[in-house]
Amino acid sequence: MTSTLPLAARVISEGFLPARSGEGFLPARSGLLQGPAEPVSGPIPPDRVRGMLLGLAIGDALGNTSEGLTAVDRTECHGEIQDYLSNRHAGGRRVGLPSDDSQLAFWTLESLLERGCLDPDDLSARFASRRIFGVGESVSTFLRNRAQGVTPWYRCGAESAGNGALMRIAPVVLLHPMDPSAALWLDTALASIVTHRDACSVASCVAFVDLLARLLRLRSPPRKDWIVTTFLATVRQVCSDQRYRARGGRFADWEGYFPDYLELVLGEAHLLETVPSVLWILERHADDPEEAIVRAVNDTNDNDTIAAIVGAAVGALHGGNALPRRWEMGLLGRTTADDSGRVFRLVESAIRQEWLTE
Ligand SMILES: [Mg+2]
Repeated sequence: MTSTLPLAARVISEGFLPARSGEGFLPARSGLLQGPAEPVSGPIPPDRVRGMLLGLAIGDALGNTSEGLTAVDRTECHGEIQDYLSNRHAGGRRVGLPSDDSQLAFWTLESLLERGCLDPDDLSARFASRRIFGVGESVSTFLRNRAQGVTPWYRCGAESAGNGALMRIAPVVLLHPMDPSAALWLDTALASIVTHRDACSVASCVAFVDLLARLLRLRSPPRKDWIVTTFLATVRQVCSDQRYRARGGRFADWEGYFPDYLELVLGEAHLLETVPSVLWILERHADDPEEAIVRAVNDTNDNDTIAAIVGAAVGALHGGNALPRRWEMGLLGRTTADDSGRVFRLVESAIRQEWLTE
């Protein structure tokens, strides 16, 4: 597996990879470059890989036809959503189609498979080469920067703490299966800043990929508080001491450090933003993949993104065979307007990769 360490060192030295500002950007001293205190490694059962990838695609497809509604309005329109809604892009059929979340995730997987390593330049070019459905504000900024000729790749990402990197990051966990230490964290950070150059985004992506690396290898569901504890420990190690303000809702006046915010929101049991929502749902429903995804689809605002992230996590933990068959059958498996089955072919290629078990 090719090392991205020299690339990471250059990106950090130019100030494009956030690290704890109190420690400067010296690679050897940053929490990111230290990697996990307790690394996890070893081959991943193929069905877990399948579960993670299909869970992501299914979560997106179940959510993207009712994205942006409040839980109350969504229930009024659709009742409790437990299956794909009628889709105007498929002649009204009740089938699963992709939006930006699974498109960018599977193009990431495609890049990893073709390059055999993380190649952020290739990733950046791939994201810009095809039409993205429901593209977010920060990814639009990234696309505009690229179109205007901004180079190199790590200058194109938006300075945004949006969830657009987190929603697509899961496939990166397939790298470095036998040595998922700092190398995996670094690759995750580099992959994340392709579109979002933000400390909070980097920390969330690294913490989520670290969590996935563990979920993929767990033999049985973890104890209740394990997911939140594990995620927060990584965020505290990686996140810079940059301060943030909540965008609205009950915590609109709150300002402070991201890990403190997560603890506050989780403690208050209030769903406002992506990461607390994901952790809240996983904390309660990680042992039931169908219920976890249904809750994400029905109870959250940015429901396709949150269901994609939750879907990846519960799929990693339980495997593809534990996901309801009707969801897999109804998924067209597209990453573009007309490449039906592409998702399933990429999943099969991922499972066959030698570097998964090297
Ligand atoms: Mg979407």
